[in-house]
Amino acid sequence: MKLPISNVSRMISRTCSRVYRATTLTLLLLAGLDANSQSDDFARSVPGAVIETRDGPTAAELAAPTKVVMLGTGNPIPDARRAGPGIAVIHRGEAYLFDVGAGSIQNAVTARYQHDIPSLYPSQICCVFLTHMHSDHTMDYSELAFTLWWRRREPLRSWGPKGLKQLNEGMYAMMAQDTALRLSGVQPIGNPDGYKVRTIEIVPGIVHEEDGLKIEAITAKHGDIKPAFSYRVTTHDRTIVISGDTAYNEELLELSRGVDLLFHEAISDSGLETTTEFWQNYHRTSHTLATDLGRLASEAKPGLLVIYHGLYYGVPESNIVDEVKSTYDGEVVLAKDLDIF
Ligand SMILES: [Zn+2]
Ligand SMILES: [Zn+2]
Repeated sequence: MKLPISNVSRMISRTCSRVYRATTLTLLLLAGLDANSQSDDFARSVPGAVIETRDGPTAAELAAPTKVVMLGTGNPIPDARRAGPGIAVIHRGEAYLFDVGAGSIQNAVTARYQHDIPSLYPSQICCVFLTHMHSDHTMDYSELAFTLWWRRREPLRSWGPKGLKQLNEGMYAMMAQDTALRLSGVQPIGNPDGYKVRTIEIVPGIVHEEDGLKIEAITAKHGDIKPAFSYRVTTHDRTIVISGDTAYNEELLELSRGVDLLFHEAISDSGLETTTEFWQNYHRTSHTLATDLGRLASEAKPGLLVIYHGLYYGVPESNIVDEVKSTYDGEVVLAKDLDIF
């Protein structure tokens, strides 16, 4: 992925001792060299690990347009290039995450520097909304809650299906030795309650409103997984729908009509054909065929359709885009981790 030149400039000012490398990076970017050499240079140009704290968003963050960052675009199948599913909506200097799949919080750290978004530093992330309790969507929940928890000034807040409070209790039990060691040791603890999450178990409807941002949940159709939710985010300048895991859903189509950005899962039609009858039946009631997603988008007419959480079953990833395009002539992209919209 290309780094915006403005980010490179900020990195130069932050890392004076690395001016030579940062300048080299700028020259490489201008020369249009391949993505791997860019990411290698990115890794060398960010500052070493630093503890970040802040009193609140800066004026620049408050004035910035709403952005969406892909923290993970994968699914339960281990993927060298994709973390588990996670999408961050950045609004007025706060990060609202939708699912936290495995690896998504490390990607948040990378995105914090790559895209210069301070609210994506893990202990600055304010809020997380879970679509459902499948592990591929929740594995980094403890990563988010416990990273640098003793430095967290504001509690992490979470919203999600019934069962989320049970997840909290299990997480506290899993990490009890860490909290006991830190709280009883010589280490200074800024906030002894920093690991505790403020949680709301939701039902469909408007589940959160804050500072000009509104979040609405509807019931997703994810086989026998109940409840499962899809979300719509409305801000002063953008409308965004995030499907979570779902089969084709008329209600989601209605929720998505005319939105600026529709982030939707999909399973490749040609990939599905390679699986057994059992799995074909399972997936047809749990996930959305790419050709059906194209039909949904043709009706909903989003400004941009973004595919994530793609299931391919061994066929080339490009198949899923071609299959969507066979029933949809609008703009569609297959998201990669760390993409920003
Ligand atoms: Zn999933
Ligand atoms: Zn699922």
